[in-house]
Amino acid sequence: MEVELKELLSDLHSLKKSISDPSHLALIEKMHLHAENIATLEKSGTARRSKVKDMSAEVVDSNPYSRLMALQRMGIVNNYERIREFSVAIVGIGGVGSVAAEMLTRCGIGRLLLYDYDKVELANMNRLFFRPEQVGMTKTDAAVQTLSEINPDVVLESYTLNITTVEGFDTFMSSLTNKSFQPTKSGSGVDLVLSCVDNYEARMVVNQACNELNQTWMESGVSEDAVSGHIQLLIPGETACFACVPPLVVASGIDERTLKREGVCAASLPTTMGVVAGLLVQNTLKYLLKFGQVSRYLGYNALKDYFPTMEMKPNSQCSNAACLERQKEYILAKPTRDAAAKAKADIEALSPAENPVHADNEWNISVVDDEEVDGSDVKISGVLPEGIVHELPVADEYPKPPVTETVGPADDLEELRRQLEALNAD
Ligand SMILES: [Zn+2]
Repeated sequence: MEVELKELLSDLHSLKKSISDPSHLALIEKMHLHAENIATLEKSGTARRSKVKDMSAEVVDSNPYSRLMALQRMGIVNNYERIREFSVAIVGIGGVGSVAAEMLTRCGIGRLLLYDYDKVELANMNRLFFRPEQVGMTKTDAAVQTLSEINPDVVLESYTLNITTVEGFDTFMSSLTNKSFQPTKSGSGVDLVLSCVDNYEARMVVNQACNELNQTWMESGVSEDAVSGHIQLLIPGETACFACVPPLVVASGIDERTLKREGVCAASLPTTMGVVAGLLVQNTLKYLLKFGQVSRYLGYNALKDYFPTMEMKPNSQCSNAACLERQKEYILAKPTRDAAAKAKADIEALSPAENPVHADNEWNISVVDDEEVDGSDVKISGVLPEGIVHELPVADEYPKPPVTETVGPADDLEELRRQLEALNAD
C-alpha cells in the first residue's frame, strides 16, 4: 500500500508538469491532495509500538508501563510484572466486555481469550470501544484488531462462537483447559473468567463450565433500563454459584430471561457500562495481583449513586450437580485451610512492623480507617440492602403479628377521674 501510494503521488506530480490546460491542472491538483491525505492516514495507521521484553519502572515518556510499575513503588502492589503471567477469558465482547478487554490490555495482562458470536453494528456506537469502520466485522476480530494495536505484548485469542451450542461449549471448555501459555500452572489454563454476556442462558453456561473446572469467575450485568448494574465473584464451593439462588438476585428486579426478545430494544448507556467494566476490572486486578479486598457482590444504582454490597453462601440444595461436588470438596478441605490461615497469621505476628513508605509528611496527609465508616456490608439472610430486590416474590412470607390494642386518650381520662374520686373520698 505504501509503495503504491508513493508511485501514485509521483505519477500525479509528473502529469501536473506535462499538462498545460489549466482546467485539467486544477483537477490533477485536487487528486494530488487526496492522495497525500491517504498517505498520511496510512502512515498513522501503521505507527505501531514495538513489543516490550521486560516491564521496566524507568520513568521516561517512552515507557508504556512506567505508571503501572509505579504501583509497586507506592506500596500498592508487591510485584506488578506478575500480570504478564495471567490469562483472563472474557465471554461476551459487548458494551462491558470490550471495555474490560481494553482496560486489561492497557494494564499489560499476559493473555486474553475473547468469546462472542456477534458482529459489530451501527446500533453499538452509543457504547465505547468499537468504531464505525468496524461495522460488519465479528466483535472478536474487531477487538483483536484494536487491542493488538494498543498493546502488542498481550497474547490475544479470538473465539467467534456461541457458547450455548454443543459445539461452542466444547471449544469453550477445551480453550479454558489449554495450558500452552503457562504449562506449569495448576488448575485450568486461565486464572479468571469474566462473564460479560447479556442473557440468562449464557450465564448458566459459564456457570456450568466454571463449576465443572473448579474455575473462579466474575459475573457482570447491566439492567435493561441502563441505570443499574452489578459485579459478582463466584468461587465454586465457597460462594453461591449462579444456579444456587435461582434466578439470582438482581439489582434491577428485571427477569433476565425476558431480555433479548425479538423487537424489544433495551436501553444502554456508555456511562453505566463503563462504570461496571471499571468495577469488574478493578476487582480483577485486585484478585490477580493480591491487593485490597475483592468484592463478593457489588451493585451500582446510577439514579442514587448507591453501591450496595453483600455475600452469598452456596445453597446445599443447588440444582447444579457440579456445584454440589465443589461444595463437598470445600467442606472437606476446611482443616487444611484453617492450618494454612493459622501458619500465615503466625508468620505475620513474628515479622517486624513495616516501615512507613514515606518518612516525611510535608502535606500532613493522614489515612482514615475505613472500618469506622463502613456500615454498608450486609450478610444475606432474607434482608436485602437498599436498592436490591428479589427477582421473584419471596415464597414464605411470615404472617404479621397481631396488632396489640393501644390505650387511647379517652381511657386515660377515665382512669385519672377514678383516681381523683378515690383521693377526694378520703
Ligand atoms: Zn450452586
